[in-house]
Amino acid sequence: MNVDLIPTRNDNYVFVLSEEGSPEVAIVDPSDFAPVESYLVSRGKVVNTILVTHHHPDHVGGIAELKAKYNCRVVAAKQENHRIQNVDHWVEEGDEVFFKTNRAVVLETPGHTLGHNAYHFADHNCLFSGDTLFSIGCGRLFEGSPKMMMDTLNRLARLPEDTVVYCTHEYTLANLEFARDLEPENEALKEFGELCKKRRELGKYTVPTTIGLEKKLNPFLRVHEAEVKKAVNLPDGDLVDVFAEVRRRKDHF
Ligand SMILES: [Zn+2]
Repeated sequence: MNVDLIPTRNDNYVFVLSEEGSPEVAIVDPSDFAPVESYLVSRGKVVNTILVTHHHPDHVGGIAELKAKYNCRVVAAKQENHRIQNVDHWVEEGDEVFFKTNRAVVLETPGHTLGHNAYHFADHNCLFSGDTLFSIGCGRLFEGSPKMMMDTLNRLARLPEDTVVYCTHEYTLANLEFARDLEPENEALKEFGELCKKRRELGKYTVPTTIGLEKKLNPFLRVHEAEVKKAVNLPDGDLVDVFAEVRRRKDHF
């Protein structure tokens, strides 16, 4: 299974799953119809399945027109069934979703919104994390509590380290600045920062990331580290309080 990225809007990515030799693709979180359609037409592809992580407009904006044109199956989180249109198949924790023979397991990952799914293709070592785990960051807590998001992220952190994480936004450089402010001594952050700057200068993407990399770099997965606790003035703080404070500071950074 191949994964392609279509950059849309200011910093969104739409993901395209495909198999060698087949015109059928799956789309994850189509923000808009036009850029996805232009990708499909130029490559002679048709949409078989759409996977949706959550209800925000920059994740669902292209569904209606893609469904109208391709009559594809749309899969979304059951908990969001009052606020996502054109869905055929509501799924929840542990459900299996197939794109052709490729199997994903649904992980409920609330925090950014109360209903939020990630899709884990274990056989391909990849995860579509929507707006929960980002490269060196995490989604804003629009609906969930700090504890809810922390539990979600810790759960994702327990996936195999080589799991490739496709998150929906290109926020890495901004996230890096915040992370380096918290952990100026973290050498891995320094090195990765240089690499990302170069990539962006060349017009390349910094997504996907991996679980292993995020455990070294992402302050939201590192609230147990003494340096992170000290940085938010909670050296002996409860982990949820540290997490909440790191998130609060990022919101105002
Ligand atoms: Zn969102």
